[in-house]
Amino acid sequence: MVLAQLGGSIAAALARMGRATVVDEKVLAECLNEIARALLQADVRFETVRDVRANIKGTVNLDALAAGTDKRRVIHQAVVGELCRMLDPGKPAFTPTKGKPSVVMFVGLQGSGKTITCTKYADYYRRKGFNPALVCADTFRAGAFDQLKQNASKAKIPFYGSYIESDPVKIAVEGVDRFRKEKCDLIIVDTSGRHKQEAALFEEMRQVSEATKPNLVIFVMDGSIGQAAFDQAQAFKQSASVGAVIVTKMDGHAKGGGALSAVAATRSPVIFIGTGEHLPDFEVFDVKPFVSRLLGMGDLSGLIDKIQDVIPINQQPDILDELTKGAFTLRLLYQMFQNLQNMGPLGQLFSMIPGFSAQFIEKGKEKEGQAKIKRYMTIMDSMTEKELDNTNPKLMNESRITRIARGSGRLVKEVVDMLEEHKRMAKMWSKLPLANRKLNMNNRGS
Ligand code: GDP
Repeated sequence: MVLAQLGGSIAAALARMGRATVVDEKVLAECLNEIARALLQADVRFETVRDVRANIKGTVNLDALAAGTDKRRVIHQAVVGELCRMLDPGKPAFTPTKGKPSVVMFVGLQGSGKTITCTKYADYYRRKGFNPALVCADTFRAGAFDQLKQNASKAKIPFYGSYIESDPVKIAVEGVDRFRKEKCDLIIVDTSGRHKQEAALFEEMRQVSEATKPNLVIFVMDGSIGQAAFDQAQAFKQSASVGAVIVTKMDGHAKGGGALSAVAATRSPVIFIGTGEHLPDFEVFDVKPFVSRLLGMGDLSGLIDKIQDVIPINQQPDILDELTKGAFTLRLLYQMFQNLQNMGPLGQLFSMIPGFSAQFIEKGKEKEGQAKIKRYMTIMDSMTEKELDNTNPKLMNESRITRIARGSGRLVKEVVDMLEEHKRMAKMWSKLPLANRKLNMNNRGS
């Protein structure tokens, strides 16, 4: 994914700046040049890149910083803050409430991924305890109903549609009425797409919207169109009172930076991104955790959310308890790996672990990531209890490392790499205030 490369390049620029002996204007300028280059390569608009750069420069006034201030930290914070600002339209979207009926209408061009995204959205809320249902009001495309039906059945979500009725408004109204009576609290209406923006499409959207009075209209957009996303999002926003956007196809070679920043420029909140053709390939888009993951800083709240999603409450491992207190020991890392193996798309999860190599975010590299986890676990199996619970890195001396390598049948270098990786993660972890970790826990599962 191009976005992973973007994250990697920005993280590398920050790391290089962090290694400089003295941080002065020259070092800052080099760092900003690298960041600007990475953003442009990810297809972010030139004007946006120029603003990002100017704003960081404006925030970091090296001359005015008091003696003893950690300049690296100030720059790091300014970069993170500015990336968040670039992607944040500053306006939250409507979110459904459990037990209270909501109607959500999906609009978008044909081929954008609208139909599968409706089901991903329904499935996401079903796992959160909602009672969702799908209505196929796409009478334009032959086979649309069959496709929705197939997806919905697979996800065990009730659906409504017709092979013979050609009036989308009639189907939408009938479907919404029926599911209201059945006490569904999230009724999702999939509307027709067209090959391009055209008056007939917007007119049909207006009629369906008027008849079903949706609480939210979601515009589904193909992320691979890069900067062109701005015009498309703008057109849909104006014609269909779009309240939120889902950007699909953020896997593959999509120049996702362009799509995301362009949509944000229309001041439309992106609420989810699609990262593949299957149901779980769907991620909540929340600017701060997204930027944090992009830069390899992890997303703890997302990780805790995932753990709670996939493991029944009574079996939720002590890891959740441990995650909210205490130090990031090797034992905790081991438990985390154990659980990760049962938790669906690994690429997504790797990026949520604070400090875990960003390289495994890329699709297709999951096997390598999995092999690495296995390798690390074998190495940890050869450690003593004391070593697993230890928080003092000095305990691991050369002779212990050699013995662990021999015991696990791995190379000394592999043991050292693992310890380094753990150290980096523990450092990242220690920067998270305890209060925040608790807050993350309490906010989950609502
Ligand atoms: P619609 O015409 O807008 O309803 O689009 P569909 O739901 O039929 O999707 C069009 C194509 O895009 C299908 O082949 C989907 O599998 C694919 N697709 C949808 N979302 C994603 C995504 O996030 N990533 C990838 N790689 N493919 C996607």
